[in-house]
Amino acid sequence: MSNNFIDYPFDQQHIWHPYTSMQHPLPVYGVASASGCELELDDGRRLVDGTSSWWSCVHGYGHPVLLEAMQTQLNTLSHVMFGGITHEPAIELAKQLVAMTPKRLTKVFYADSGSVAVEVAIKMALQYWQGRGCAQKQQIMTIKQGYHGDTFAAMSVCDPDNGMHTMFGSSVTPRLFAPAPQAGFDNGLAARDASALRALFEAHHQECAAIILEPVMQGAGAMNFYAPEYLVLVRQLCDEFEVLLIADEIATGFGRTGKLFACEHAGIEPDLMCLGKALTGGYISLAATLCSDEVADGISSSAAGVFMHGPTFMANPLACAAARASMTLIQQGTWQTQVAAIEKQLQAELAPARALSAVRDVRVLGAVGVIEMHEQVNTGLMQQGFVEHGVWVRPFDRYLYVMPPYCISAAQLTKLTSAMVEMAASKHRLRGKPAQGSPSHG
Ligand SMILES: *Cc1c(COP(=O)(O)O)cnc(C)c1O
Repeated sequence: MSNNFIDYPFDQQHIWHPYTSMQHPLPVYGVASASGCELELDDGRRLVDGTSSWWSCVHGYGHPVLLEAMQTQLNTLSHVMFGGITHEPAIELAKQLVAMTPKRLTKVFYADSGSVAVEVAIKMALQYWQGRGCAQKQQIMTIKQGYHGDTFAAMSVCDPDNGMHTMFGSSVTPRLFAPAPQAGFDNGLAARDASALRALFEAHHQECAAIILEPVMQGAGAMNFYAPEYLVLVRQLCDEFEVLLIADEIATGFGRTGKLFACEHAGIEPDLMCLGKALTGGYISLAATLCSDEVADGISSSAAGVFMHGPTFMANPLACAAARASMTLIQQGTWQTQVAAIEKQLQAELAPARALSAVRDVRVLGAVGVIEMHEQVNTGLMQQGFVEHGVWVRPFDRYLYVMPPYCISAAQLTKLTSAMVEMAASKHRLRGKPAQGSPSHG
């Protein structure tokens, strides 16, 4: 039992939570502490975490290596501006990132969140084509059912139907969308998906700077998995039609799909890559946009001659120190056996949900397990049911899904999967309102 005092009425009256209303807030649960793969609530209940705090906490909570790295850094230098200054954590982390990511990616821009990393990638692509004398290339392509963040440029490339386009009207730049590939991860490239993608490139390449997508696994948009062959085709079309490829690996990066980066399933290299979430092991916010020499050269030839972005907390040393420790743990490679074991167990233990009448599909890739329902679920009621089962799982739209920390034990994972299957069978939790305004992500 903790000593934390959670002032719920104050929280309700004054503090926004993600995708909620201040008038009718959904219930929230007070977390007092967390360690390993468990959250401890203020009333002492312990919940097995199936979310890794939105894909980020891959090594678990309270990991001694991460704590030590951050504490040491805190005593030395918590923050200093990055204009005209550099520091060891930024340099050493960039060395790790350049070494881990595909060869072509050699330049690192540090941003403070995933959405900003996406903004940065889009700005880089536009400035690149200006520098190459193709200023008409200002449009961005993407595929439906994606999620790339909540800032304006990021919103513009989120799914146009379940995203926030309608809410913000003409303030959101219209983009070019290919249909989301529908054939799943294992079934190769569907002819229909291929021809729709090619048609989009043929019609619009002259005005397009880049295509942005989440490689192989679309996360917060629809938990949709698609074939590596589709990504191979994207790379070919980008080369053929001179369009840059931005891989948004913010959710998929660092082992989540069973490869270090999801691009590796297809053996392709993007021109730009966005990283975030698990970058710091989920201990503090940090993101990065990596690009090739070619992209950086083009930007230098643009009218500005420089890349026009520079956040106040760019390359925050404390965040870089956390990320260095997280990347060192990733480089040690334990995640490979952990993620493979999680994948096997998810496949075996979620399979029974296929027989349920309310279930449309069950799919697993790496350390991600999804039960897709036929109908939208009631997030609040579902959440409550999961808490009663002693687990933390946050469904959205039609999806009950988990992406646990890699260090989860077999017994803890069974607790998650059995709760998921039971909740998928509990009819009274189905339907009803989603989280207010839910753009799926919540
Ligand atoms: C979460 C996410 C983002 C946005 O990251 P924030 O840190 O929440 O701004 C962008 N792209 C993908 C694929 C994500 O999953």
